Amino acid sequence: MLHIKKNDTVKVLSGKDRGKTGKVLKIYPDVDKAIVQGVNFAKKHARRTRQDQQGGIITREAPIHVSNLSVVCKGCSRSTRVGVDILNDGSKVRYCKKCKEVL
Ligand SMILES: [Zn+2]
Repeated sequence: MLHIKKNDTVKVLSGKDRGKTGKVLKIYPDVDKAIVQGVNFAKKHARRTRQDQQGGIITREAPIHVSNLSVVCKGCSRSTRVGVDILNDGSKVRYCKKCKEVL
């Protein structure tokens, strides 16, 4: 289980967008990567489609490896490590290792 989930707010730890925060829009669990809103923009060639008659070069968020991301806790608003607890019924919950808030 990845420590980051869709709709988490995360902070970028390295790379050109280091220090930025954004919301996770999409997770690619197979490659441990995530798309974060406003982070890691990359130019991409787009083919003309029926929906987009312009085609050409577009800029959009490129996936970033989750090891470069840290979850920002809703409870204490700090970037934090996430712990995982297994409840009595077997379900997993994530919690902030700094303030113990369940995320
Ligand atoms: Zn916290």
